[in-house]
Amino acid sequence: MPVRRRVALAVRHNTAIIMTSQFDLAQSPRASGGSCSVEAQESEALIVRVLIVEDEQRIAEIVTAALRKAEFTVDVVATAADGAAALATIPYDVAILDLGLPDGDGLDVLAAARAKGRSVPVLILTARDAIEDRVLGLDAGADDYLVKPFATAELVARVKALLRRPGGALGAVLKAGNVTLDTMGRNVTVDDENILLSRREVAVLEHLMRRLGRVAPRDVLEEKLYGIEEEVDSNAVPVHVHHLRRKLIECNATVEIHTVRGIGYLLAEPKL
Ligand code: CA
Repeated sequence: MPVRRRVALAVRHNTAIIMTSQFDLAQSPRASGGSCSVEAQESEALIVRVLIVEDEQRIAEIVTAALRKAEFTVDVVATAADGAAALATIPYDVAILDLGLPDGDGLDVLAAARAKGRSVPVLILTARDAIEDRVLGLDAGADDYLVKPFATAELVARVKALLRRPGGALGAVLKAGNVTLDTMGRNVTVDDENILLSRREVAVLEHLMRRLGRVAPRDVLEEKLYGIEEEVDSNAVPVHVHHLRRKLIECNATVEIHTVRGIGYLLAEPKL
C-alpha cells in the first residue's frame, strides 16, 4: 500500500482529522491543443502542500480557507500525534503548528520532525505571546511565529515568505536545456516562448527539473500532487507525464522525460 494511503487510513481511523483539501480535484481544463508559443499565459496556480496542525476547528477552518484561496493543497490534523505522523510521511512544503494541542505540545511535533531530519519550513501559530515562547519555538527549529489573533492575509504572506527562502518551494528559476520554469510565477518557457501547461503538469515538471538527471519516484510525485484523502487514479501521474512529454516534444524542448519502468521518471538532456 502506498505511504500516502496508509497515512490517510491512519488519520481517518483516528477521527482527529478535521478536513483535507478537496479543492484541486478539478484538473485545469486549459491544456489541450497547441500549447507552444502562447501569447499571454494565465498565471498558473501553485501546487504547494501545507500541513496545518490545529485543534481549534474554527481557526483551522479559517486558515484552511485562506490557504486554499491562495491555491495551496491543505491537510489539517488536530493532534500532535497525527501531526508528527503526517510530517514523517508526507513531503510538505510548509507546516503550520499550533502549540497547545490536546495530546501534547506543537514544539514536540517540531522537535520530532527536526530529529528525523525534516527541513520543512515551520510557522508556529499560538495564543501564547510571551517572549520566552517565541524563543523556545525558534530554538526548537521554527522558522517563523504568528500570535493569535492574526489577520489571514498576514498568515498567507508569512507562508509565502517561508516558501521563497532558498531551497523553498517558491522563488527559484529552474533551467534545464532550453526549458525554464519560474517557480514563483509558475511560468514555463522553451527557448523564451511560453508553453501552456496545466498546474499539475507544471508541478511534475518542477519536480523533475529539481532532480535533473536523477530518477523521481512515481510515489513521491503522487504525494506532491494530491492531498491525503483525495482519491488518486493509479494512472494519474502517468497521464500528466504523458501530456507533459508530448508538449515538450511539440515545443522542441532539448530535454526528454524518460520512464524508468516500475520506479518513476527521469528528466535528461539528450547527448548532442
Ligand atoms: Ca490549541
